Parts: sequence; C-alpha cells; structure tokens
Amino acid sequence: EALHPTAKLMQGLQFAASKHRTQRRKDNETPYINHPINVATILAVEGGITDESVLIAALLHDTVEDTDTTFEEIKQHFGVEICEIVREVTDDKSLEKQERKRLQIEHAAMSSFKAKLVKLADKLDNLRDLRRKPPIGWSLERQEQYYVWAKKVVDNMRGTNPVLERELDVIFKEKKLL
Ligand code: NDP
Ligand code: ZN
Repeated sequence: EALHPTAKLMQGLQFAASKHRTQRRKDNETPYINHPINVATILAVEGGITDESVLIAALLHDTVEDTDTTFEEIKQHFGVEICEIVREVTDDKSLEKQERKRLQIEHAAMSSFKAKLVKLADKLDNLRDLRRKPPIGWSLERQEQYYVWAKKVVDNMRGTNPVLERELDVIFKEKKLL
C-alpha cells in the first residue's frame, strides 16, 4: 500500500531527524536538523514548490554527506528519484576541500532542475545562517569568502526559481556583491 504524500514527507523528516540526531550546526548550538527543515520550508513556503520528491530530497540532502547514511539506504526507503536528487547535491568527501568547492560551482550548471531547486534553497539557508549565527571561529574575511563562493554557485543556476533567486540577491546586494 503506497503512502500518501504527507505520510511520505513525515517519513523523510523522521529519517533525517534520526540520522542527524547527535549533530549541531557550526554555531555549535542549533540542532543540525533545523537546517534540512529550513531548506524544505524555503522550497514549500517561499519557492511555492509542491513536488514531494523535491521536498523530501531537501529533508534528506545532507544525510549522506554528513552522517553514515548510504545512497542504497535512501533508495530503499524513498525510491530512486529522491535518491538521485540527493546524489546530485552530495559532495564527494574523499576530495580536497578546495576541489570540492570548485566542483560545486562546475556541477551547479549541469544539475537537473530538481537538484538546482534543492541547491538554491540550501545556499539561501546557509547564507541566512551565516548572517544570523556564523560558524564559531570564522573571521569576517572567511565569511566574505563564503559569500563570494556561494554567489558563483548560484550564478550557475539562474533561471530556476525567481523567488529563491530574488531572496539570494537580497543577501548578495547587502554584501555588495551585486
Ligand atoms: P565549510 O564548507 O567548511 O563550511 C560551510 C558549510 O558549513 C556550509 O555550506 C553549511 O553546509 C555548513 N554550516 C553549518 N553551520 C553553518 C552556519 N552556522 N552558517 C553557515 N554554514 C553552516 O566552509 P568553506 O570551506 O566554504 O569556507 C568558506 C570560504 O573560506 C571558502 O571560500 C574557503 O576558500 C575559505 N576558507 C578559509 C579558511 C580560513 O581560515 N580563512 C579556511 C578554509 C576555507 P551544509 O549545508 O552542508 O551544512
Ligand atoms: Zn545543507
């Protein structure tokens, strides 16, 4: 018996909450799960996205990158489409940090529409977090470098969702990058 969309969404929330249960954001106080919840909420409330595969992929988007979760596990629980969106937004952690950052800029342009939506909402929430509660120990210069890099990733995904892009541009204008 197939689950209805709300039930599937709740399972995504449950899975992500369980996987991230011991983690906090880099401000060292916010529970990690707040971020995937924010990303899915940005898509639904601000972006007007109703596609449940996108919303569930948003909830799961950092589980493989930041916990012991495997793509196989995502596929078994949520199916191949959601698994492939999560794969598209997952960095290869075996690569050097600088190479990973460079590849995010490059891969943004060739991503699927659904992966671009998740990536745009992820960047928007990370930039809002950076503004509200920056990672412990980050100098202003490092924060500035993050805005500059994030804008390069976003610039390669323009034409995907006008509301999300406008909200990102509010932040880039504040930082005099636009
Ligand atoms: P990281 O990738 O190490 O950290 C940023 C990521 O942390 C975000 O993308 C987000 O990822 C997650 N995150 C968790 N908590 C927060 C929060 N409160 N606010 C924002 N993000 C949060 O950073 P970078 O490597 O991108 O560093 C930024 C820039 O600084 C780069 O351009 C790099 O070149 C430079 N740099 C400078 C250093 C220095 O000491 N000056 C050292 C290293 C890099 P997620 O969505 O996955 O949770
Ligand atoms: Zn994220």
